[in-house]
Amino acid sequence: MKEVDVVGAGLAGAEAAWQLAKRGIKVRLFEMRPKKFTPAHQTPFFAELVCSNSLGGINLDNAAGLLKEELRFLDSLVIKVADRNRVPAGNALAVDRNLFAEEVTLRLSYHPLIEVIREEVVDINPERVTVIASGPLTSKALAENLKKYLESDYLYFFDAVAPIVAGESLDMEKLFFAGRYQQDKDYLNAPMNEEEYLRFYEALITAERHPLKPFEKDIYYEGCLPIEVIASRGKDTLRFGPLKPKGIIDPRTGKEPYAVVQLRRENLAGDYYNLVGFQTNLTWKEQNRVFRLIPGLENAEFIRFGVMHKNTFINSPALLTPYLNLKKYPRLFFAGQITGGEGYVAAIATGAWAGIAASGIFGKMPEPLPETTMLGGLIRYLNTAPVDNFQPMGVNFGLVKPLDRKIKNKKERYKLLAERSLKDLKRWLAVNG
Ligand SMILES: Cc1cc2nc3c(=O)[nH]c(=O)nc-3n(C[C@H](O)[C@H](O)[C@H](O)COP(=O)(O)OP(=O)(O)OC[C@H]3O[C@@H](n4cnc5c(N)ncnc54)[C@H](O)[C@@H]3O)c2cc1C
Repeated sequence: MKEVDVVGAGLAGAEAAWQLAKRGIKVRLFEMRPKKFTPAHQTPFFAELVCSNSLGGINLDNAAGLLKEELRFLDSLVIKVADRNRVPAGNALAVDRNLFAEEVTLRLSYHPLIEVIREEVVDINPERVTVIASGPLTSKALAENLKKYLESDYLYFFDAVAPIVAGESLDMEKLFFAGRYQQDKDYLNAPMNEEEYLRFYEALITAERHPLKPFEKDIYYEGCLPIEVIASRGKDTLRFGPLKPKGIIDPRTGKEPYAVVQLRRENLAGDYYNLVGFQTNLTWKEQNRVFRLIPGLENAEFIRFGVMHKNTFINSPALLTPYLNLKKYPRLFFAGQITGGEGYVAAIATGAWAGIAASGIFGKMPEPLPETTMLGGLIRYLNTAPVDNFQPMGVNFGLVKPLDRKIKNKKERYKLLAERSLKDLKRWLAVNG
């Protein structure tokens, strides 16, 4: 019988289930929430965004923008629903996280070929075709049992979540809407003068953090460092990072502030905002104290505090084929962050590819994706990165096969790479779609 089990209805599992069902394959989609929650998820919905509500840039000369466009070519359900539930965020695709996750849940739950089973999977049968998309916070029992098929230990790193505050608790007299270089007015900005910045900085680097176990110390993912870790690298690192004032003009002074905290709308109503780049491991009490030193946030009501989690991933280059299935157990596919593809859109993309590839088991395997595409480049990275020091990778143009000729201008180069990718993907779809 043409049937596949998908374990985990996060971003990757939701997309994998959709791609399978789209190809006429029956799917049993297992999700342990709401019976059992991961430390980061808070709702029963599929495709819950655990931290930021942004799926990255929209332009094709942006790596995440290109990957999203490739996913649209692959008829991705998750990206389609994201596009439908967009909130203003300048050049980024940010979504109303609840409307987005609810719609993905409904679309999959009512699909005639998808059976949703709300149970924790504790072990798998290597004879059944299965897509394991249980994420960086895979439940302990399953992670333990999967080791039988991996014949190696897991790798891990730490990732942190930024806090969300209630819009009505902000002092709008001190804040202003603006985008960088006046491209839009989508972000709420909290400007700081030098004195305010230094006061905030001192409080941040001396604030109490949640203790890590000794063996867990300092294994962070560089792309998502806690704000206090960035700050501890130097007095001005924040002003060149998340508090960068460049291109943001305070309408009251007509000048760039000394530093600026940006808040991004969480939902269309604008009643929730997240503090951009404020992933943190501070204790909740300290978040209340330190983040209220930001001008305009003196009375901020925290809807969600920032938290930090240990992320688990497998040694993909040692274990997986280009179809994301295990070399030794070809019926077992992996997708999402557990493969080491980093970030929301990479999770959706590897979910799409694992779903497409797993459907091939019942007929003809698709041709590998062109290495000129962002998704093909990401899969290649997962297959060929150094086994001894494998690290998660967010999407970037370095993953894509270079052009035949040298083009110095980065924007122009990325534009050409994007055009080539979409052309090659169209060709691939004509044969494999
Ligand atoms: C704390 C944290 C913050 C992050 N912040 C960002 C961010 O801001 N931006 C970004 O781009 N990326 C972020 N990431 C990285 C990554 O993009 C997300 O983790 C993304 O959700 C990964 O998608 P996924 O489908 O692989 O896993 P998930 O979305 O986590 O989905 C896995 C699903 O499997 C379920 N599950 C787990 N074990 C079992 C089991 N045994 N049986 C049944 N179901 C199970 C879980 O409940 C969950 O629904 C963050 C990761 C973490 C951990």
